[in-house]
Amino acid sequence: MSSVLVTGGAGFIGASLCTRLLDDGHRVVVVDRVPDARRGRTVAELAEHADPGMLEVVVADLADLDLPALLRRVDAVVHLAGRPGVQTSWADGFDDHLQENVALSQHLLEAALDAPLRTIVMASSSSVYGEAGGDGPVREDVALRPISPYGVSKATLEMLVGAYALRGVPAVALRYFSVYGRRQRPDMAVARMVEALRGGPPFPLRGDGTQSRDMTHVDDVVEATARALDANLRPGTVVNVGSGRPISLAETLDAVGQLCGRPVPVEPVSAVPGDPRQTWADLSRAERLLGWQPRTALVDGLRDQLSCDFTDVRPGSPLSVPRRS
Ligand code: NAD
Repeated sequence: MSSVLVTGGAGFIGASLCTRLLDDGHRVVVVDRVPDARRGRTVAELAEHADPGMLEVVVADLADLDLPALLRRVDAVVHLAGRPGVQTSWADGFDDHLQENVALSQHLLEAALDAPLRTIVMASSSSVYGEAGGDGPVREDVALRPISPYGVSKATLEMLVGAYALRGVPAVALRYFSVYGRRQRPDMAVARMVEALRGGPPFPLRGDGTQSRDMTHVDDVVEATARALDANLRPGTVVNVGSGRPISLAETLDAVGQLCGRPVPVEPVSAVPGDPRQTWADLSRAERLLGWQPRTALVDGLRDQLSCDFTDVRPGSPLSVPRRS
């Protein structure tokens, strides 16, 4: 049993990760600002799930905490708190991305200099690649070419991980690829499709829908992250965490529509800057270093997410979604 700090533990990925860590017998310390009611419920769910004394929730902005003191109380850290979202990172939005993804991460790494931690796993993103992958799966060692300020902020976070690794901080970064599943953030694609099906605004279909994403189920992301905590990775290591199977936006819309038995209402809108044509993870490093492979088929993962919002999701409906191998 060890004590793990999960920053952003009340968020989309964080809540599932905390549940898993509690199930594995770890003591979990969550730090999250918990900005709205939806996430407030998440904390209540976690509290119900935890055995007495195994969960501590600190409702605070990380920037306001005594980080060295916090880190001295735990054995390991998963740093998920940050400002996600490509489109919000343009214009003045970048100030928040700089503060949340860069400055706060540096403060945490600095505090880790004096803490006897086993490891710090930092959340990076496929957005660091931009179009660097071309038409195929992208390996961690290509030159990064982010095409959004968000991608730049996460690439900078990774460089900080590298700089502090040289000073002995046991930090590593995981590059998550388009995560979906239970509690998905409302600004993300599948959650917006659900909203459109529930009578909310139609799904904004950017461009022609042929842009593709390597969509990764949250359970697979949680498994990879839990393994990274124990894998004794060389400090400074970065690892892709994806499904390795990109799917186009049009195909995703089709799959969600088939599972719900009705098409997702869409509104065509112009393509926006910052969105790459494709994301596609090469997973050989994850397999080699973490012994990890994604397990969740897209149809099962979508059914799981949609079942949270609809009772009539088709149980075993076959999907006619063409997939690349
Ligand atoms: P999320 O917004 O659901 O969770 C982040 C949580 O961090 C939120 O609950 C928020 O309240 C908290 N937080 C943010 N800043 C904080 C601060 N200063 N102090 C305390 N709490 C703070 O996001 P998510 O989708 O779960 O993403 C988690 C991490 O993974 C982020 O760093 C994100 O950039 C990264 N990531 C996510 C995806 C994805 O597809 N969801 C893909 C790549 C990378």
